[in-house]
Amino acid sequence: MRAQKDLKIGVIGSGIMGHGIAQTLARYGYSVIMNDISEDFLKNGMQMIRTGRFGLERAVSSGKMKQEEADQTLSRLSTTVNQEDLKDCDLVIEAITEDEKVKGALFRKLDGIVKKDALFASNTSGIMISSLSSFTTRGKNFVGMHWFNPPQVMKLVEVVKGPETTEEAIRTVVQISESAGKVPILVNDGPGFFTTRFLNSWLMESYRMFESGVAGIAEIDKMSKLAFGFPMGPFELSDFIGLDTMLHVAEYMYEETKRSDYAAPTLLKKLVLSGYLGNKKGSKGGFYQYYGIKQES
Ligand code: NAD
Repeated sequence: MRAQKDLKIGVIGSGIMGHGIAQTLARYGYSVIMNDISEDFLKNGMQMIRTGRFGLERAVSSGKMKQEEADQTLSRLSTTVNQEDLKDCDLVIEAITEDEKVKGALFRKLDGIVKKDALFASNTSGIMISSLSSFTTRGKNFVGMHWFNPPQVMKLVEVVKGPETTEEAIRTVVQISESAGKVPILVNDGPGFFTTRFLNSWLMESYRMFESGVAGIAEIDKMSKLAFGFPMGPFELSDFIGLDTMLHVAEYMYEETKRSDYAAPTLLKKLVLSGYLGNKKGSKGGFYQYYGIKQES
């Protein structure tokens, strides 16, 4: 299969990542169908595509995109709650909750629905592709396609080769990523790949330093930016990513490696259990909200 713009792409999950991936691929000419568990989630995803911080209206009003391009992007996007509607997709990108069992059940179901020669890709932050592909009969056509937040802006796509992934499948995902303005980098499989292994270490260590009183949240964020040139500090970034996602990531990384420095500290669990999931739909807020800290704009 070649990376041509007439390929039909399914994106499963319309949350923080799914809507951004769908918007980006539609912008660059692909026909995209987005799926979620309810109309309400899909409506929210489409709303983000239209009016969100990285959405089409702002891109047009700031002169980054012509109205015609925004209209064409929207015309290439459709939504469905029925996964049967994805059966003729050439590539399906999964961007649902970071939970191995939930993702596995979805892939098992999709394997019976989507045409046999279609590619499956997961936007998992760090669950091994070897594990996710084992829920399907298409290990050769199964790839990790790890986008970054916000997908409309961030350049990297970490492409993960599973144990059976063919060179052709990798080539296709690399070509699609490049044609959507991204820089794909190929990595081998392993918990957290490169980026999430690095990120998880940095975030968990920062939470622990705050817990043990080394410095405050705003101060740690500011030091990270001023000392290392990072665009966001660990707490701002956690609120942006989603604290529930980071908890899932840390629990998975710990389970797989038994490295205690990868495990989530109580602080993160406490916030997630009390509904502080970061800056996302249905959340009370993140670290800044919970601790009543004013955020620098
Ligand atoms: P999110 O919570 O914002 O969205 C997840 C969406 O998936 C929700 O809308 C939910 O309703 C939907 N969903 C759950 N189960 C489903 C199912 N069975 N079928 C269809 N839809 C289903 O999460 P997110 O932040 O977009 O994360 C999605 C994936 O992307 C995760 O694997 C995460 O680790 C990964 N990721 C996240 C970030 C980030 O910064 N948030 C960055 C890179 C990768």
